[in-house]
Amino acid sequence: MRFTSLLVPPDLDPTVILRPDLAVSDRSGLPKRLAGRHLLLLFKNLMAAALLSSHFLSSTAQDLGPLETPFSLDVKQAWLEQVLPIAESFGDQQGDPPVWPGYRRNSLTRVRELAGYAFLSRDVPPEEPGYSAPIDMLIGVDTEHNITGLKILNYEETYLRIKGDFLADRAILSQFNDKPLSDEFRIGRDFDGLAGSTVSVFAIARGAREAARRVASAYLDYSPVDPIQAARAQRVTEIMQRHKLSEMLENRLVQQLDVTLPDQKTLQLAFTYMTDPALGQYWVGEDNFRAAERAASINPVGNELLLVAVAGTGAEQFQYYQLQVRQAEANSLSFFRRFNADSYLPLNVTTSATPFNAQQWGAIVIPANIDVTRPFTLAYRPLGVPERSTLDFQLSGLPLDLASGESLLSPTEIESILNAENGWLKKFFADPPWGETPWQKLGLLLFILTGCMTAFFTKRASIRWLTLLLTFSYLGFIDGGFVSVSHLVNIIKLGPAFLLSNLPLLLIFSFTVVTTLLWGRLFCSSLCPFGALQDFITRFGPRRWRRRVPQGIHDNAIYLKYLILGLILTGAVVAEQVSLFQYFEPFGTLFFMDGTLALFSILIAFLAACFVVPRFYCRYACPLGAALGVVAMVSPWRIQRVPQCEFCIVCEQACPTGAIRRQNIDFKECVRCDICDVKLIKQTGTCRHDMTHVIASTKNVSLNDRGIGSA
Ligand code: SF4
Ligand code: SF4
Ligand code: SF4
Repeated sequence: MRFTSLLVPPDLDPTVILRPDLAVSDRSGLPKRLAGRHLLLLFKNLMAAALLSSHFLSSTAQDLGPLETPFSLDVKQAWLEQVLPIAESFGDQQGDPPVWPGYRRNSLTRVRELAGYAFLSRDVPPEEPGYSAPIDMLIGVDTEHNITGLKILNYEETYLRIKGDFLADRAILSQFNDKPLSDEFRIGRDFDGLAGSTVSVFAIARGAREAARRVASAYLDYSPVDPIQAARAQRVTEIMQRHKLSEMLENRLVQQLDVTLPDQKTLQLAFTYMTDPALGQYWVGEDNFRAAERAASINPVGNELLLVAVAGTGAEQFQYYQLQVRQAEANSLSFFRRFNADSYLPLNVTTSATPFNAQQWGAIVIPANIDVTRPFTLAYRPLGVPERSTLDFQLSGLPLDLASGESLLSPTEIESILNAENGWLKKFFADPPWGETPWQKLGLLLFILTGCMTAFFTKRASIRWLTLLLTFSYLGFIDGGFVSVSHLVNIIKLGPAFLLSNLPLLLIFSFTVVTTLLWGRLFCSSLCPFGALQDFITRFGPRRWRRRVPQGIHDNAIYLKYLILGLILTGAVVAEQVSLFQYFEPFGTLFFMDGTLALFSILIAFLAACFVVPRFYCRYACPLGAALGVVAMVSPWRIQRVPQCEFCIVCEQACPTGAIRRQNIDFKECVRCDICDVKLIKQTGTCRHDMTHVIASTKNVSLNDRGIGSA
């Protein structure tokens, strides 16, 4: 393409292209000088064009261009581009069946997305045989279920030796560009054939269609059943099943020719239209119909099919070549024309499957110059009899509707089928915004979420510690799929839809929001890897390092995290390019081991503080904890307290976040660790310590001078 843009169109002055400085000069006074210059430049141009053409041709010869058959299966990049031109890049051949995925950049989001697949026809068997053998093709299919291009790579058809590379035909191959897979790919109807090579073209068309359908079914959620065609086929079957054979004969769904043979035996030939797949399959079954359809598709004379059922006492004397057809109005067929071996296909029909009681069956291919929607004559002349027996054949009712291309379904029915088919939910799951579903990740995440809920409802500390271990190792270090304040920033910058691009993130984010709304910060209890690390530090760190934060300082310091949250969210709104969160949230620094010296210093400082004050980071600095705290303020199901709590400080001292004050819990600060529930409250919700015991054990404690932070 880049070469052609340099060639000079005949209506343009070459100087305009080659010498812009001359193009703006006054040429009227310099005709001779410029005429000479023009000749020189024209010569230069022709030389350049010749050189470029030769370069183009040599390059074409090298990658064997868009048409020439390379007779090789060693697939080149240029061929992939040729069959899937919408792709900007290709991945390695992969998968089962093997395909080359093609990618392009979304023009709006600039995100790389799947454009389609290229594949070899031989990789998705069975292949459609040509004259001599299957034809090897490279085929492209896009995500909209269209064939985007086809290149013949190798074949051994008989004509090859006579005609050369006869399948490298632009008229044939270009018909595969943007061809919907739902099309029937019928030669003569959906495709133009190639004189003398109909079987080869049929093999290409059907082979490409079937192979592309298999690839699209495997990778692109293609359903080979067109819902409208399926509904239409069902309607045909329903209509046909309503009638007995006698009614069919009466209303001309089936028409019969009675012939008396020389030996006075009778021949009853029943004819009925069967081109439509639903009708054809109703009469003769799928296998017979496919065989007849193939015969019609590769037959150059036409592709409309009639079924002939042969009965009577002389049925065994039936000779198909004595069967003839004529349409008086068709100038080219005003005489009777015999059916021959190419236009008559014997069928192996099980009598019980049809209403006919026939002894022989066949499909006849009606010549293309007969319009089956108009009357024509069928005739049979027994051997040794001079006169033909004739039947004036006229389609009516359902067959006529089908032959005329009537849909049989009302616009309302089609609309409701399409609505059902294209319902947003179905579309959503057929083509989910997160692309391929990461089942393994989802399974592990669901396991962790189940652990979190089980620990919460059973109040079993052992389950919670196990969940924390999984959260810390898998969500933190292995997968990195934890929720972070960066996701809140992205929601502001990109909109909530960005969550849809990552199914595990969508799941854990939704879980976090819902559980926080219902019960408080369950996420902080078991699903935050940094919270897990702080719990491990508290559990295994030296107790002697532990210090209490004076109540007054604590009460004010807890608001720092809300300030940080406000700062980060404001930054996201006003300064799109600035990401402040990394300085306040050390998750990425730790779990991705990625950061500057300053970021690692911040991380170490926070971790060191956690050795002194349990959940130091959660208490005073975590912006995500602050956001969840705000949500938790509306939670209806909170931790129960009992009257004894007014005097008892056991839970207050054990609380890792300092959320308990006498009988009250500051629920926005509670991380739902359930220490107060698990250790000190019975399942019934009543404190196991009776009032006498509580008052006796706390009488020496000054409630006004409690420090916060021991464990
Ligand atoms: S407060 Fe922050 S660090 Fe602590 S558990 Fe919750 S999200 Fe994690
Ligand atoms: S131990 Fe019982 S009484 Fe004491 S603070 Fe906890 S729940 Fe209340
Ligand atoms: S101990 Fe504190 S943080 Fe844990 S559940 Fe009770 S109030 Fe919440």
